[in-house]
Amino acid sequence: MSRVIVVGAGVTGLTCAVRLLENGHRVDVLARDLPLETTSAVAAAIWYPYRALPQDRVTAWSGASYAEFVGLAGEPDTGVRMVTGTEVFEIRQADPWWRAAVPSLDRETALPDGYADGWTFVTPVVEMPVYLRWLQARVEELGGTVTRMNLSGLPTGADVVINCAGLGARLLGADRSVVPVRGQVVYVEQVGLDRWWLDSAAPTYVVPRSTDIVVGGTDEEGDWSRTPVPEIAEAILARAARLVPELEGARVLRHKVGLRPVRPAVRVERVGDVVHCYGHGGAGVTLSWGTADEVVGLVG
Ligand SMILES: Cc1cc2nc3c(=O)[nH]c(=O)nc-3n(C[C@H](O)[C@H](O)[C@H](O)COP(=O)(O)OP(=O)(O)OC[C@H]3O[C@@H](n4cnc5c(N)ncnc54)[C@H](O)[C@@H]3O)c2cc1C
Repeated sequence: MSRVIVVGAGVTGLTCAVRLLENGHRVDVLARDLPLETTSAVAAAIWYPYRALPQDRVTAWSGASYAEFVGLAGEPDTGVRMVTGTEVFEIRQADPWWRAAVPSLDRETALPDGYADGWTFVTPVVEMPVYLRWLQARVEELGGTVTRMNLSGLPTGADVVINCAGLGARLLGADRSVVPVRGQVVYVEQVGLDRWWLDSAAPTYVVPRSTDIVVGGTDEEGDWSRTPVPEIAEAILARAARLVPELEGARVLRHKVGLRPVRPAVRVERVGDVVHCYGHGGAGVTLSWGTADEVVGLVG
């Protein structure tokens, strides 16, 4: 049993904390932003390996998370549901590189106007505010702690430190290869939608939740602004209504921006007493259980 400090209380840090506690370690989470204030709270969030590399490790991590989410979807208070949806394309596609991570994937023939191909599959949809609260409660129930602390360097005094600082790894991991990729979303009222839609080239996505619908998005590399831009919101809503006409005229509830921690390759690696686990890009939820399992192995 090791004494472990996890830095970061987004989906990556909390999931690592849960897995480490389940494996008998003593765990304290330290974070500048508490779970509902993190980038993770802004995620849409569907299971989908978006803006994360390398392909082989991402496929394996995503597949492990998929299996875990199937189990969590059986527990209503987790905020996880298995939902059918369709990814659409303007040109004919080969199978996706992450095909092995999902149990089934069907070519779609009933496509919206303007699209030439698509695949329909069942994927976890994770209602992040509910899920992050559940993860934090699970950490505490297993005997861990979550404390707000703004660190200027990785802490000492533990057997192992897990660096799950997301974009904060630019400072805490001295790693300038992690960059922000800005994502703006609009929340609209639920209009009775029960399936998700994705056009990742645009990017445009429509993700139904219990009381609202998350509509996105943007993909702006190097932009640090977390202020929603009204013109961008209008463009997102117009693209989404072309994809899903039921959204036309839906009441807008609020706007949000998150900065995805994108790195040329997700870093899951042990260096001395530090295990780095950051750079999950646009797929932090999708990779969360897979990378947490690997971190447990690296802690030993
Ligand atoms: C609009 C949008 C939509 C998205 N949709 C999806 C989706 O559908 N599916 C999906 O899988 N992913 C999605 N993502 C990506 C996902 O949100 C991220 O990959 C994920 O949130 C990364 O989680 P993280 O825990 O690594 O980082 P964060 O959530 O950013 O957490 C980092 C933690 O580190 C802490 N920290 C940083 N620096 C310090 C410091 N100096 N001292 C102390 N603590 C520090 C922070 O306070 C925070 O607690 C989306 C992202 C955006 C922006």
